[in-house]
Amino acid sequence: MPGGTLRIMNTQSQSPTDLHRERLALLERMEQQFPEIPPEAILKEDLLRTGIRFDEEALRFCAEFKTKSYFIFSFDMVPISDMEQGENLRAPEEIRFSGGDHRYRPTTVSVRVNPHSPYQGVVRDGRLRLACGERDLGEVELLPVPEYYRRQLESGQPVHEVAPTIEWGYLVYLTVYRKCQYFGFNEECRFCDINENYRQQVKAGRPYRTVKPVEEVLEALSIIAETSSAAKAYTLTGGSITRQLKGQTEADFYAAYAREIEDRFPGRWIGKVVAQALPEDEQKKFRDAGIRIYHPNYEVWDERLFEILCPGKTSYVGRAEWHRRILAARDIFGPENVIPNFVAGIEMSRPHGFTDPAEAVASTAEGLEWFMSQGVSPRFTVWCPEPLSPLVMEREAAGETQGPAPLEYHVGLLRAWRDTHRRHGLPVPPGYGPPGVGNALFSVSSFMDVIEV
Ligand code: SF4
Repeated sequence: MPGGTLRIMNTQSQSPTDLHRERLALLERMEQQFPEIPPEAILKEDLLRTGIRFDEEALRFCAEFKTKSYFIFSFDMVPISDMEQGENLRAPEEIRFSGGDHRYRPTTVSVRVNPHSPYQGVVRDGRLRLACGERDLGEVELLPVPEYYRRQLESGQPVHEVAPTIEWGYLVYLTVYRKCQYFGFNEECRFCDINENYRQQVKAGRPYRTVKPVEEVLEALSIIAETSSAAKAYTLTGGSITRQLKGQTEADFYAAYAREIEDRFPGRWIGKVVAQALPEDEQKKFRDAGIRIYHPNYEVWDERLFEILCPGKTSYVGRAEWHRRILAARDIFGPENVIPNFVAGIEMSRPHGFTDPAEAVASTAEGLEWFMSQGVSPRFTVWCPEPLSPLVMEREAAGETQGPAPLEYHVGLLRAWRDTHRRHGLPVPPGYGPPGVGNALFSVSSFMDVIEV
């Protein structure tokens, strides 16, 4: 397996000064090109597609705060083996930047470690700041370690391994199956590192287990229920189950957790599940177990790219059937509670993706129009080209790099999502906390930040 250090867009041949100057000029250009998109969302998208680096002093500063839990994928731009400062154990889960020259409103962003990023967390005058070279971009707030992160279960497992939280403590993320049965070249999604991340985390000593026992999930949730009022929702998720897991189908496996949680804590949190687009009878098992929001992720809209990038989903279900089942779920959960995800940016991945950002946005906007005109609001996460994903490993094996999609694509997509959502008069997607710039908690893309309130 290649060592896989992803360097963003030829940064090796640039001096740090040029790199920072170019990045600041890019931000300015995007702000001029998209005056209707908040500058906070532009910077947030760039941080998500580029990552952040931390020097030793900044990492020491972060030690008192909530660190990355690796709740499902790596969401980093280098493998753990290339993190010379032990960032996998020390970097924060999320930052909230504000202030600076732009007087940014508080904006919450997931941290993607990249020691080669032009963006850096630095300590100045005893405070953590976000910088791009010499330019100070604003103050950084970190989330203190919640009390439940300091607790252990009777088995000795830390609560934060069984039930970590993201979105500033709003969402309990229950990856109860840490692998995916879409496996190998012919099946796994090309942008996904779930199985490789499992291996690297276990090798690095994190107490990952393939399946989380339901009793431990309940014990962890009881500690969260006692100690946290910030947590408002939980997501049950993990890899796809194409055959059986512990003698259960995918719907039976995930629904069993939901049923236990809802029996023990009825209505305490908004229950969500990320699963395949399953036949209607299977979907009903989630609803009957108490799940309120269903995420049957379609990943990418374009038909040709879906077949290339999602070979397992293509062969087991097929794109047309996947979409039909998403629409069928409206009658089971209610249209606003069917929220399929796509991975924004993979439609520009090499070698098969679009090369023109405008064409990529137009393709994805076609999908948004198709879903939203039928009452379903997809949401998206910003693609992080993870070094252990097939898309990146294959490029590296060919001696090339797999950089992220251009910022112009990401900001154009934000505009397309916001305009389409507004045109169809759709409600704010439930289960994400407050919308609007300065308020949004969703940290892996800015779709909630661009909703006007
Ligand atoms: S279905 Fe695709 S994206 Fe989801 S875990 Fe499996 S390989 Fe990854």
